[in-house]
Amino acid sequence: MKEFLNFINGEYVKNVSGKMFDDINPVNGQVIGKIYEAGRPEVDAAVAAAKAALKGDWGRISVVERAKLLDAVAGEINRRFDDFLQAEIADTGKPASLASHIDIPRGAANFQIFIDTIKSTATESFNMRTPDGKTALSYGVRVPRGVIAVVCPWNLPLLLMTWKVGPALACGNTVVVKPSEETPATATLLGEVMNAVGMPKGVYNVVHGFGPDSAGAFLTSHPDVNGITFTGETRTGSAIMKAAADGVRPVSLEMGGKNAAVVFADCDFQVTIDTLTRSCFENAGQVCLGTERVYVERPIFEKVVAALKERAESMKPGLPFEKDTKIGPVISKEHQEKVLGLYKSAKDEGATIVTGGGVPDMPEELKGGSWVQPTIWTGLPETATVVTEEIFGPCCHISPFDSEEEVLGKVNANRYGLATAIFTQDISRANRLAHQIEVGLCWINAWFLRDLRTPFGGSKQSGIGREGGVHSLEFYTELRNVMVKF
Ligand code: NAD
Repeated sequence: MKEFLNFINGEYVKNVSGKMFDDINPVNGQVIGKIYEAGRPEVDAAVAAAKAALKGDWGRISVVERAKLLDAVAGEINRRFDDFLQAEIADTGKPASLASHIDIPRGAANFQIFIDTIKSTATESFNMRTPDGKTALSYGVRVPRGVIAVVCPWNLPLLLMTWKVGPALACGNTVVVKPSEETPATATLLGEVMNAVGMPKGVYNVVHGFGPDSAGAFLTSHPDVNGITFTGETRTGSAIMKAAADGVRPVSLEMGGKNAAVVFADCDFQVTIDTLTRSCFENAGQVCLGTERVYVERPIFEKVVAALKERAESMKPGLPFEKDTKIGPVISKEHQEKVLGLYKSAKDEGATIVTGGGVPDMPEELKGGSWVQPTIWTGLPETATVVTEEIFGPCCHISPFDSEEEVLGKVNANRYGLATAIFTQDISRANRLAHQIEVGLCWINAWFLRDLRTPFGGSKQSGIGREGGVHSLEFYTELRNVMVKF
């Protein structure tokens, strides 16, 4: 049985309370590890180590030296690719084909992309005449914010954690990471990587535990934390924002969504169905950018429903390393119950169940896992629970529309505003709509295609702030103005 320790000041440490909780494999429900829950003493020690590191070697090295270290981190993740893959898969049960293409490579890339950004981004400067006839030159310098708390979800554990740790370190900060209680493994393993490349002690720290009354709340309310970056549910983001208000700390929040896809009759049908299959069902629907509402122009409505049904039914559930496995379980029994509860509400509210709606029949040894069927509904009103609430499961509601105006109104009538995908060959119409849909990210004839230099984040209740490329610098540094008179 594996043990997951906290990683503080370059060392793996247990805890003073002796409290541990289980790490469960969602494929079969078996306990695969014990996690040492960090209490206040461990969180205090981690924040103190991160604060001290700012004044030590880390605070003194040049950007070029920092860049070399981060490049080495990426190299070491790639060198230990299989260890990271095994760790991520044991925690999440996701297919190896997915994790080896997305989670682990992006985890490494997140350390490289921001090196170039930090090295090549200029700061502003202004020249002016002073009243006494002299000159004043102002210029900006970017300084690290200090200790950054990084609070992470379980759906893409390494990818989303490094998406924050990469730029935070590139900008010269130190971090204390609180991984999800469901997925402790890759954040813990990254400690070994940090030590292997010679990262100064205290730059990267990990504390394990839950949210309220546990490591998450202790960390986000800690007075020596200078900024909090969070990915997770909107409700949690709201609690974190309240904690950040004490001490007036900045927050960057990447939160929930209820993303729509808009399919016009002139779309490239094959591209659209291929893409929708991924956006609705990939990672068992546990992708913040995933599609849960599909709006289809009436002439091709039935055709899209039939094609997506066929695809949903071809998503074979199974063990992560089996070649024909297309879908894994959802993260936990608790999440399975939530998703199945929403499946039931769709039925109760009068949905036509096109496919799925329950638990797949699994072999005996996997029956203890948290499996759910890919599910498609039609026929619900826009006010139905599964059309308005985030489900975070492999499912979608498909409804027909007749005009651009109508579909725009429906897409925007939701409290979330994370992402949309539009499918059409009429590029003017696509661009016109993209400008009006209230989201942070809009794809045209694509989904989850990312250029890491571009802004990432949500509108409305999906988030505050943008990260990615130079936008990450806005959060992870403070801009100081220097004026010299001569
Ligand atoms: P969650 O909000 O339950 O938990 C996220 C993290 O916050 C966990 O580490 C948890 O322990 C911690 N936490 C919980 N309560 C806390 C508190 N009061 N104080 C401090 N920390 C606390 O989210 P989840 O269930 O792990 O992830 C799924 C959610 O994440 C979905 O809503 C999904 O849309 C969202 N998400 C958003 C993005 C994005 O980029 N916008 C990306 C991935 C996931």
